[in-house]
Amino acid sequence: MFTDLAKNSTCVQESKSLKELNSWRVGGVAQYFAAPNSIESLKSVWHWAWARKLKIWVISGGSNILIQDGELKGVVISLHEMRGVDHVKTGDQVIIECCAGTSKSEVAKIFLQNRLAPAVFLTGIPGDMGGGVVMNSGIGENRVPREFGEIVRSIDVLRIDEKTGEFSLNNILNSQIKWEYRHSSDWQPGVIVKVTVGWSHTADMQVPDGVRAQTKKRVSTQPLDLPNCGSVFRNPLGHKSAQLIESCGLKGFRIGGAVVSEKHANFIVNDKGATAGDIDKIIKHIRETVLLKTGVELIPEVAYIGEWD
Ligand SMILES: Cc1cc2nc3c(=O)[nH]c(=O)nc-3n(C[C@H](O)[C@H](O)[C@H](O)COP(=O)(O)OP(=O)(O)OC[C@H]3O[C@@H](n4cnc5c(N)ncnc54)[C@H](O)[C@@H]3O)c2cc1C
Repeated sequence: MFTDLAKNSTCVQESKSLKELNSWRVGGVAQYFAAPNSIESLKSVWHWAWARKLKIWVISGGSNILIQDGELKGVVISLHEMRGVDHVKTGDQVIIECCAGTSKSEVAKIFLQNRLAPAVFLTGIPGDMGGGVVMNSGIGENRVPREFGEIVRSIDVLRIDEKTGEFSLNNILNSQIKWEYRHSSDWQPGVIVKVTVGWSHTADMQVPDGVRAQTKKRVSTQPLDLPNCGSVFRNPLGHKSAQLIESCGLKGFRIGGAVVSEKHANFIVNDKGATAGDIDKIIKHIRETVLLKTGVELIPEVAYIGEWD
Protein backbone atom coordinates (compact mmCIF):
# COMPACT_ATOMS: atom_id res chain seq x y z
CA MET A 1 0.00 0.00 0.00
CA PHE A 2 1.20 3.53 -0.56
CA THR A 3 0.63 6.95 0.83
CA ASP A 4 1.63 9.06 -2.14
CA LEU A 5 2.85 7.27 -5.26
CA ALA A 6 3.63 10.17 -7.53
CA LYS A 7 6.64 12.47 -7.44
CA ASN A 8 6.48 15.94 -5.96
CA SER A 9 6.77 18.62 -8.60
CA THR A 10 4.36 21.10 -10.10
CA CYS A 11 4.17 24.54 -11.61
CA VAL A 12 1.42 27.06 -12.17
CA GLN A 13 0.80 28.13 -15.77
CA GLU A 14 -0.91 31.31 -16.88
CA SER A 15 -3.60 31.47 -19.60
CA LYS A 16 -4.06 27.77 -20.21
CA SER A 17 -6.63 26.65 -22.77
CA LEU A 18 -9.03 24.16 -21.22
CA LYS A 19 -10.51 22.74 -24.43
CA GLU A 20 -8.36 19.61 -24.46
CA LEU A 21 -9.12 18.92 -20.80
CA ASN A 22 -12.82 18.18 -21.15
CA SER A 23 -14.65 15.65 -23.26
CA TRP A 24 -16.92 18.27 -24.88
CA ARG A 25 -13.81 20.07 -26.17
CA VAL A 26 -15.27 23.48 -25.28
CA GLY A 27 -14.56 26.26 -22.83
CA GLY A 28 -12.11 29.09 -22.52
CA VAL A 29 -8.83 29.78 -20.83
CA ALA A 30 -7.89 29.38 -17.19
CA GLN A 31 -6.34 32.46 -15.61
CA TYR A 32 -4.03 30.00 -13.83
CA PHE A 33 -3.69 26.25 -14.24
CA ALA A 34 -1.80 23.49 -12.46
CA ALA A 35 -1.73 19.71 -12.69
CA PRO A 36 -0.06 18.50 -9.48
CA ASN A 37 1.06 14.89 -9.45
CA SER A 38 1.22 14.31 -5.69
CA ILE A 39 -0.50 15.38 -2.52
CA GLU A 40 2.50 17.54 -1.62
CA SER A 41 2.45 19.36 -4.94
CA LEU A 42 -1.34 19.79 -4.70
CA LYS A 43 -0.79 21.40 -1.30
CA SER A 44 1.77 23.82 -2.68
CA VAL A 45 -0.51 24.93 -5.55
CA TRP A 46 -3.52 25.20 -3.27
CA HIS A 47 -1.55 27.20 -0.70
CA TRP A 48 -0.29 29.47 -3.49
CA ALA A 49 -3.92 30.12 -4.55
CA TRP A 50 -5.06 30.56 -0.96
CA ALA A 51 -2.36 33.18 -0.24
CA ARG A 52 -3.56 35.16 -3.28
CA LYS A 53 -7.25 34.70 -2.41
CA LEU A 54 -7.84 32.98 -5.75
CA LYS A 55 -10.79 30.66 -6.25
CA ILE A 56 -9.86 27.09 -7.11
CA TRP A 57 -11.72 24.90 -9.59
CA VAL A 58 -11.06 21.17 -9.46
CA ILE A 59 -11.31 19.02 -12.56
CA SER A 60 -10.08 15.48 -13.22
CA GLY A 61 -10.99 13.41 -16.29
CA GLY A 62 -13.19 16.28 -17.54
CA SER A 63 -15.93 13.92 -18.73
CA ASN A 64 -18.79 15.47 -16.78
CA ILE A 65 -18.11 19.20 -16.82
CA LEU A 66 -19.18 22.25 -18.83
CA ILE A 67 -16.41 24.85 -18.66
CA GLN A 68 -17.38 28.48 -19.36
CA ASP A 69 -16.13 30.34 -22.44
CA GLY A 70 -13.71 33.26 -22.06
CA GLU A 71 -11.35 33.66 -19.14
CA LEU A 72 -12.03 31.48 -16.11
CA LYS A 73 -10.84 33.53 -13.14
CA GLY A 74 -8.87 31.70 -10.47
CA VAL A 75 -6.82 28.52 -10.58
CA VAL A 76 -7.99 25.40 -12.37
CA ILE A 77 -6.40 22.38 -10.68
CA SER A 78 -6.46 19.19 -12.69
CA LEU A 79 -6.03 16.03 -10.62
CA HIS A 80 -5.56 13.92 -13.71
CA GLU A 81 -1.80 13.63 -13.14
CA MET A 82 -2.29 12.28 -9.61
CA ARG A 83 -2.27 8.67 -10.71
CA GLY A 84 -1.14 5.43 -9.18
CA VAL A 85 -2.86 2.23 -8.17
CA ASP A 86 -2.07 -0.72 -5.97
CA HIS A 87 -4.12 -3.75 -4.94
CA VAL A 88 -4.00 -6.52 -2.36
CA LYS A 89 -6.11 -9.54 -1.40
CA THR A 90 -7.05 -9.38 2.27
CA GLY A 91 -9.48 -11.78 3.93
CA ASP A 92 -12.25 -12.26 1.39
CA GLN A 93 -11.73 -8.92 -0.36
CA VAL A 94 -9.69 -7.52 -3.20
CA ILE A 95 -8.80 -4.00 -2.05
CA ILE A 96 -7.65 -1.41 -4.60
CA GLU A 97 -6.10 1.86 -3.46
CA CYS A 98 -5.69 4.60 -6.02
CA CYS A 99 -4.69 8.21 -6.35
CA ALA A 100 -7.79 10.23 -7.28
CA GLY A 101 -6.62 10.88 -10.86
CA THR A 102 -6.33 7.18 -11.71
CA SER A 103 -8.64 6.37 -14.59
CA LYS A 104 -11.62 4.12 -14.00
CA SER A 105 -10.49 1.92 -16.87
CA GLU A 106 -7.30 1.09 -15.00
CA VAL A 107 -9.29 -0.02 -11.96
CA ALA A 108 -11.81 -1.86 -14.16
CA LYS A 109 -8.86 -3.81 -15.59
CA ILE A 110 -7.81 -5.05 -12.13
CA PHE A 111 -11.37 -6.14 -11.33
CA LEU A 112 -11.58 -7.86 -14.73
CA GLN A 113 -8.28 -9.70 -14.24
CA ASN A 114 -9.75 -11.06 -10.99
CA ARG A 115 -13.14 -11.79 -12.65
CA LEU A 116 -14.93 -9.50 -10.20
CA ALA A 117 -18.34 -7.90 -10.83
CA PRO A 118 -17.39 -4.17 -10.48
CA ALA A 119 -15.51 -4.50 -13.80
CA VAL A 120 -18.87 -4.57 -15.59
CA PHE A 121 -20.31 -1.22 -14.46
CA LEU A 122 -16.92 0.54 -14.50
CA THR A 123 -16.34 -0.45 -18.12
CA GLY A 124 -16.97 2.45 -20.44
CA ILE A 125 -17.49 5.15 -17.81
CA PRO A 126 -14.81 7.68 -18.72
CA GLY A 127 -12.87 9.85 -16.31
CA ASP A 128 -11.08 9.27 -13.06
CA MET A 129 -11.76 7.62 -9.73
CA GLY A 130 -12.16 10.89 -7.74
CA GLY A 131 -14.70 12.18 -10.27
CA GLY A 132 -16.52 8.84 -10.01
CA VAL A 133 -16.93 9.29 -6.27
CA VAL A 134 -18.12 12.90 -6.61
CA MET A 135 -20.76 11.89 -9.16
CA ASN A 136 -21.52 8.49 -7.63
CA SER A 137 -21.15 7.33 -11.21
CA GLY A 138 -22.81 4.18 -12.35
CA ILE A 139 -25.18 2.52 -14.77
CA GLY A 140 -28.96 2.35 -14.91
CA GLU A 141 -29.11 -1.42 -15.26
CA ASN A 142 -30.24 -3.40 -12.28
CA ARG A 143 -27.06 -5.28 -11.35
CA VAL A 144 -24.79 -5.55 -8.33
CA PRO A 145 -22.73 -3.43 -8.05
CA ARG A 146 -23.89 -0.66 -10.33
CA GLU A 147 -22.46 2.52 -8.81
CA PHE A 148 -19.50 3.87 -6.85
CA GLY A 149 -21.30 3.93 -3.48
CA GLU A 150 -21.29 0.11 -3.54
CA ILE A 151 -17.56 -0.36 -4.10
CA VAL A 152 -15.92 2.52 -2.21
CA ARG A 153 -14.40 1.55 1.13
CA SER A 154 -13.05 4.99 2.03
CA ILE A 155 -11.70 8.19 0.52
CA ASP A 156 -8.96 10.57 1.63
CA VAL A 157 -9.98 14.22 1.47
CA LEU A 158 -7.51 17.09 1.66
CA ARG A 159 -8.89 20.24 3.32
CA ILE A 160 -7.49 23.70 3.83
CA ASP A 161 -8.26 25.86 6.84
CA GLU A 162 -9.42 29.08 5.17
CA LYS A 163 -8.17 31.17 8.10
CA THR A 164 -4.68 29.74 8.59
CA GLY A 165 -3.91 28.03 5.28
CA GLU A 166 -3.11 24.79 7.13
CA PHE A 167 -3.98 21.45 5.56
CA SER A 168 -5.60 18.38 7.03
CA LEU A 169 -5.94 14.95 5.42
CA ASN A 170 -9.14 13.18 6.41
CA ASN A 171 -9.96 9.52 5.89
CA ILE A 172 -13.72 9.22 5.34
CA LEU A 173 -15.44 5.85 5.41
CA ASN A 174 -18.15 4.79 2.99
CA SER A 175 -20.74 4.89 5.80
CA GLN A 176 -19.94 8.56 6.47
CA ILE A 177 -20.71 9.53 2.87
CA LYS A 178 -24.25 10.20 1.68
CA TRP A 179 -24.67 8.37 -1.64
CA GLU A 180 -27.45 9.55 -3.90
CA TYR A 181 -28.29 9.11 -7.55
CA ARG A 182 -25.33 10.68 -9.46
CA HIS A 183 -24.24 12.66 -6.40
CA SER A 184 -22.34 12.16 -3.16
CA SER A 185 -22.19 14.46 -0.17
CA ASP A 186 -21.15 14.80 3.48
CA TRP A 187 -17.45 14.43 2.56
CA GLN A 188 -17.10 18.09 1.51
CA PRO A 189 -15.39 20.53 1.77
CA GLY A 190 -12.13 19.44 0.20
CA VAL A 191 -10.47 17.64 -2.64
CA ILE A 192 -10.53 13.85 -2.88
CA VAL A 193 -6.93 12.68 -3.20
CA LYS A 194 -7.27 8.94 -2.72
CA VAL A 195 -10.02 6.39 -3.30
CA THR A 196 -10.04 2.89 -1.84
CA VAL A 197 -12.45 0.41 -3.37
CA GLY A 198 -12.99 -3.28 -2.73
CA TRP A 199 -15.08 -6.30 -3.57
CA SER A 200 -15.36 -9.88 -2.42
CA HIS A 201 -12.70 -11.88 -4.28
CA THR A 202 -14.99 -14.73 -5.27
CA ALA A 203 -14.42 -14.97 -9.02
CA ASP A 204 -17.43 -14.80 -11.35
CA MET A 205 -16.65 -16.33 -14.74
CA GLN A 206 -19.54 -14.36 -16.36
CA VAL A 207 -17.68 -11.07 -15.81
CA PRO A 208 -15.73 -10.98 -19.10
CA ASP A 209 -18.98 -11.54 -21.03
CA GLY A 210 -20.64 -8.79 -19.00
CA VAL A 211 -17.80 -6.40 -19.84
CA ARG A 212 -18.03 -7.24 -23.55
CA ALA A 213 -21.81 -6.70 -23.50
CA GLN A 214 -21.41 -3.29 -21.79
CA THR A 215 -18.92 -2.14 -24.41
CA LYS A 216 -21.11 -3.34 -27.26
CA LYS A 217 -24.17 -1.62 -25.80
CA ARG A 218 -22.34 1.71 -25.42
CA VAL A 219 -20.97 1.65 -28.94
CA SER A 220 -24.39 0.90 -30.39
CA THR A 221 -26.40 3.40 -28.32
CA GLN A 222 -24.05 6.37 -27.70
CA PRO A 223 -22.67 8.96 -30.18
CA LEU A 224 -19.06 8.22 -29.28
CA ASP A 225 -17.71 9.58 -32.58
CA LEU A 226 -18.28 13.21 -31.54
CA PRO A 227 -17.18 15.11 -28.39
CA ASN A 228 -19.85 14.75 -25.71
CA CYS A 229 -20.28 14.59 -21.98
CA GLY A 230 -22.35 11.45 -21.58
CA SER A 231 -25.88 11.91 -20.29
CA VAL A 232 -26.56 15.60 -19.77
CA PHE A 233 -29.60 15.18 -17.48
CA ARG A 234 -30.29 12.88 -14.57
CA ASN A 235 -33.23 10.55 -15.06
CA PRO A 236 -36.19 11.98 -13.10
CA LEU A 237 -37.91 9.45 -10.85
CA GLY A 238 -40.07 7.18 -12.99
CA HIS A 239 -38.82 8.66 -16.29
CA LYS A 240 -35.95 8.40 -18.75
CA SER A 241 -34.60 11.80 -19.77
CA ALA A 242 -33.75 10.55 -23.26
CA GLN A 243 -37.36 9.44 -23.86
CA LEU A 244 -38.78 12.74 -22.58
CA ILE A 245 -36.44 14.75 -24.81
CA GLU A 246 -37.19 12.59 -27.83
CA SER A 247 -40.94 12.79 -27.20
CA CYS A 248 -40.66 16.59 -27.41
CA GLY A 249 -39.17 16.31 -30.90
CA LEU A 250 -35.80 17.67 -29.84
CA LYS A 251 -33.50 15.12 -31.47
CA GLY A 252 -31.34 17.02 -33.95
CA PHE A 253 -32.12 20.40 -32.33
CA ARG A 254 -29.11 22.64 -32.92
CA ILE A 255 -27.69 25.88 -31.58
CA GLY A 256 -24.41 26.92 -33.20
CA GLY A 257 -22.14 23.90 -33.23
CA ALA A 258 -24.01 22.00 -30.52
CA VAL A 259 -26.69 19.42 -31.38
CA VAL A 260 -29.01 17.07 -29.52
CA SER A 261 -27.75 13.68 -30.67
CA GLU A 262 -29.92 11.73 -33.12
CA LYS A 263 -28.53 8.52 -31.62
CA HIS A 264 -29.22 9.26 -27.93
CA ALA A 265 -31.41 12.23 -27.02
CA ASN A 266 -29.81 12.71 -23.58
CA PHE A 267 -26.47 13.44 -25.27
CA ILE A 268 -25.53 16.85 -26.66
CA VAL A 269 -22.66 16.57 -29.11
CA ASN A 270 -20.12 19.11 -30.26
CA ASP A 271 -20.56 18.86 -34.00
CA LYS A 272 -18.21 21.58 -35.40
CA GLY A 273 -16.87 24.28 -33.16
CA ALA A 274 -19.56 24.45 -30.47
CA THR A 275 -19.00 26.87 -27.61
CA ALA A 276 -19.91 26.22 -24.00
CA GLY A 277 -22.53 28.95 -24.46
CA ASP A 278 -24.16 26.98 -27.33
CA ILE A 279 -24.38 23.91 -25.10
CA ASP A 280 -25.77 25.87 -22.18
CA LYS A 281 -28.44 27.41 -24.44
CA ILE A 282 -29.48 23.94 -25.63
CA ILE A 283 -29.63 22.70 -22.03
CA LYS A 284 -31.92 25.62 -21.11
CA HIS A 285 -34.08 25.09 -24.21
CA ILE A 286 -34.47 21.36 -23.46
CA ARG A 287 -35.43 22.06 -19.84
CA GLU A 288 -38.04 24.66 -20.83
CA THR A 289 -39.52 22.55 -23.61
CA VAL A 290 -39.71 19.32 -21.61
CA LEU A 291 -41.26 21.13 -18.64
CA LEU A 292 -43.84 22.83 -20.86
CA LYS A 293 -44.79 19.72 -22.82
CA THR A 294 -44.54 16.99 -20.19
CA GLY A 295 -44.61 18.79 -16.82
CA VAL A 296 -41.36 17.04 -15.82
CA GLU A 297 -38.38 19.08 -14.61
CA LEU A 298 -35.00 17.91 -15.92
CA ILE A 299 -31.96 18.46 -13.70
CA PRO A 300 -28.52 18.56 -15.35
CA GLU A 301 -26.08 15.87 -14.26
CA VAL A 302 -23.20 17.81 -15.77
CA ALA A 303 -21.23 20.08 -13.40
CA TYR A 304 -20.86 23.72 -14.45
CA ILE A 305 -17.34 25.11 -14.02
CA GLY A 306 -16.86 28.88 -13.96
CA GLU A 307 -19.22 31.82 -13.70
CA TRP A 308 -22.65 31.17 -15.21
CA ASP A 309 -25.99 33.06 -15.10
C1 LIG B 1 -19.18 8.95 -23.36
C2 LIG B 1 -19.51 9.15 -21.89
C3 LIG B 1 -20.20 8.17 -21.21
C4 LIG B 1 -20.51 8.34 -19.86
N1 LIG B 1 -21.18 7.35 -19.22
C5 LIG B 1 -21.47 7.49 -17.91
C6 LIG B 1 -22.17 6.46 -17.22
O1 LIG B 1 -22.51 5.41 -17.77
N2 LIG B 1 -22.45 6.64 -15.92
C7 LIG B 1 -22.09 7.78 -15.26
O2 LIG B 1 -22.37 7.90 -14.06
N3 LIG B 1 -21.42 8.78 -15.88
C8 LIG B 1 -21.10 8.66 -17.19
N4 LIG B 1 -20.43 9.66 -17.84
C9 LIG B 1 -20.10 10.90 -17.11
C10 LIG B 1 -18.70 10.92 -16.47
O3 LIG B 1 -17.82 10.06 -17.15
C11 LIG B 1 -18.71 10.53 -14.99
O4 LIG B 1 -19.53 11.38 -14.23
C12 LIG B 1 -17.31 10.51 -14.39
O5 LIG B 1 -17.32 9.77 -13.20
C13 LIG B 1 -16.72 11.88 -14.13
O6 LIG B 1 -15.35 11.72 -13.76
P1 LIG B 1 -14.25 12.77 -14.20
O7 LIG B 1 -12.97 12.37 -13.62
O8 LIG B 1 -14.30 12.98 -15.66
O9 LIG B 1 -14.79 14.07 -13.44
P2 LIG B 1 -14.80 15.58 -13.96
O10 LIG B 1 -15.73 15.68 -15.11
O11 LIG B 1 -13.43 16.09 -14.15
O12 LIG B 1 -15.45 16.30 -12.70
C14 LIG B 1 -16.80 16.04 -12.31
C15 LIG B 1 -17.09 16.80 -11.00
O13 LIG B 1 -16.31 16.25 -9.95
C16 LIG B 1 -15.45 17.22 -9.35
N5 LIG B 1 -14.20 16.51 -9.06
C17 LIG B 1 -13.52 15.68 -9.90
N6 LIG B 1 -12.51 15.09 -9.25
C18 LIG B 1 -12.54 15.55 -7.98
C19 LIG B 1 -11.75 15.30 -6.83
N7 LIG B 1 -10.74 14.44 -6.86
N8 LIG B 1 -12.05 15.94 -5.67
C20 LIG B 1 -13.10 16.82 -5.62
N9 LIG B 1 -13.89 17.09 -6.69
C21 LIG B 1 -13.61 16.47 -7.85
C22 LIG B 1 -15.33 18.35 -10.39
O14 LIG B 1 -15.11 19.60 -9.76
C23 LIG B 1 -16.72 18.29 -11.04
O15 LIG B 1 -17.66 18.96 -10.23
C24 LIG B 1 -20.11 9.52 -19.18
C25 LIG B 1 -19.39 10.52 -19.88
C26 LIG B 1 -19.09 10.33 -21.22
C27 LIG B 1 -18.30 11.39 -21.94
